[in-house]
Amino acid sequence: AATKADVLRFIDEFDKRIEEHHQALTDLDQAIGDGDHGINMNRGMKAVMEKIPSVQDKTIADIVKTVGMTLMSKVGGASGPLYGMAFVKASAKAKGKEELSPEDISEMIGAAIASIEKAGKSTTGEKTMLDAICPAKEAYDKAIADGKSVADAFADAEDAAWKGVEYTKGIIATKGRARYLGERSIGHQDPGATSISYLIQSARVAAE
Ligand code: ADP
Ligand code: MG
Ligand code: MG
Repeated sequence: AATKADVLRFIDEFDKRIEEHHQALTDLDQAIGDGDHGINMNRGMKAVMEKIPSVQDKTIADIVKTVGMTLMSKVGGASGPLYGMAFVKASAKAKGKEELSPEDISEMIGAAIASIEKAGKSTTGEKTMLDAICPAKEAYDKAIADGKSVADAFADAEDAAWKGVEYTKGIIATKGRARYLGERSIGHQDPGATSISYLIQSARVAAE
């Protein structure tokens, strides 16, 4: 089961990865968007890390909700509300829980996906963050059903997420700014799918 310390570690690992890769994420967005995805996410995660000390004595649900609210208010663009709302919806699945079971974690990822699909009016195959997080959840669920540990399940999920990122290179964007490029978006990797893969990687590292 995941403890509050694991959740805090996950947030910390995600912040580190966004910081390390923010220029690369921005470069990806430069090619098919407006070149700010890394800047947006880095600004958001810095604001999250400033908020964490004031909520780390609260519940897992409170902490995850705070991450979402902070991303919503600080990230801006398309990804801010999508990421932010996803964390807020995921937090509801942690309500009243001192530890998260493998199934709780699956429900949280499921709530995040449902939130992105609803707010973004999007689905897989449109060259968005969903192309990383949906296969990641499938792989995670399969691994848990096969009796693997949460860490091993997140390792499978991470592989699936990076495969999803590769997949975005070959398809046309039909959502987000990249859709304006039409066929010219082919050959480019989606920045949002890439940042989601760092999120899944962070969960894997925190679960180890
Ligand atoms: P903006 O495009 O407003 O500048 P960002 O650059 O921060 O916002 O984020 C762009 C990413 O957001 C895209 O790479 C894509 O993965 C994701 N995205 C955009 N629109 C949608 C949508 N409708 N559904 C899901 N994800 C989306
Ligand atoms: Mg952008
Ligand atoms: Mg923008």
